[in-house]
Amino acid sequence: MLMICEIFHSLQGEGPFTGRPAVFVRLSGCVPPYCEFCDTPEALEPGTPIKAEKIIGQVCGFKCPLVVITGGEPFLQWDQGLREMSQILVKKGMTLQFETSGRAGIPEDVNGIVVLSPKPGKWPSAEMLSRAHWLKPLVGDDPNETLNAIKNSGFPQDRVWLMPLGRSRKEQLRRMPVIWDLCIRHGYCLSPRLHILAHDRKKQI
Ligand code: SF4
Repeated sequence: MLMICEIFHSLQGEGPFTGRPAVFVRLSGCVPPYCEFCDTPEALEPGTPIKAEKIIGQVCGFKCPLVVITGGEPFLQWDQGLREMSQILVKKGMTLQFETSGRAGIPEDVNGIVVLSPKPGKWPSAEMLSRAHWLKPLVGDDPNETLNAIKNSGFPQDRVWLMPLGRSRKEQLRRMPVIWDLCIRHGYCLSPRLHILAHDRKKQI
């Protein structure tokens, strides 16, 4: 059984797969202390226990080859059945993208593309960074700490996507021009939060 918050079909709004249709499996639970700006507070609730076979059936029903495994913090449930479910989805031909803050660790045997999205003030260890394929830090009003952390980590420049912190369209658009300039200056990519730009605070399932 996995503790699930929601499963839905939408477009990936962030990072290297921005704009691509994807099935989202949002697992419940995160690592305290929780972020004050958390935009998925529903994922901090205990969630609904669902058997892996049922989740796989639901995911396959959308007939969409990209599956985003997110949370909360999905890797909290890696040893509780997520590993096995991921292996089956890969065998069925799905591409998996894991969205993680890195706070529950990143398993050595992860079998998909890891997009590591550190939150301000919660920078992951060098070991976790070495297991990530893409880095997508959230950037708030003071980007210097994040920029220094990226630089010190030695993470490849062309695999970094800076993403504005912002739970609303207004908040996101306010930060975007500054981040735009930073991306040009440092050679990083800019990740919008397309779902928020398109739908603002409304749910976009
Ligand atoms: S890591 Fe993500 S899910 Fe967890 S509290 Fe922070 S924003 Fe919310």
